[in-house]
Amino acid sequence: MEYPVTYEMYQEFLRQGKFIGLKCNGCGSIIFPPQAICKDCGGKDLANTPIGNTGHIRTFTVIRVPPEGFQPNYVVVMVELDGGAWVVGRLMDIDPDRAGFDIIGKKVEMEPISINFSGRPDEETYILGFRLKGGVK
Ligand SMILES: [Zn+2]
Repeated sequence: MEYPVTYEMYQEFLRQGKFIGLKCNGCGSIIFPPQAICKDCGGKDLANTPIGNTGHIRTFTVIRVPPEGFQPNYVVVMVELDGGAWVVGRLMDIDPDRAGFDIIGKKVEMEPISINFSGRPDEETYILGFRLKGGVK
């Protein structure tokens, strides 16, 4: 099976601060992160589509016991992108102990976070990060 978006493409787009998703030519659904088949109709006729890098926080949690390789504490948000997809990423520039319900609904912009799990040079992985538009009050 041929994937419309490879892992390498996905990482390169993230590095540039861009989201690339898929649009189903069968039902019009936006799929992110990219998958081999449409989540709504099971269709395989999918095409690359840019889905923008801004959205609104819909919910969040504070991670105090992180997976290996991550430093606690940090805030993870679920964001509804203006382009239609829902994604999960880390919210930067906020004190996790001060994150409250007032951040729900706030506008955010995506910014990739570079993490090097192996410690070897040139092996950065990019994960989704977000910053509050207009900064922190
Ligand atoms: Zn579909």
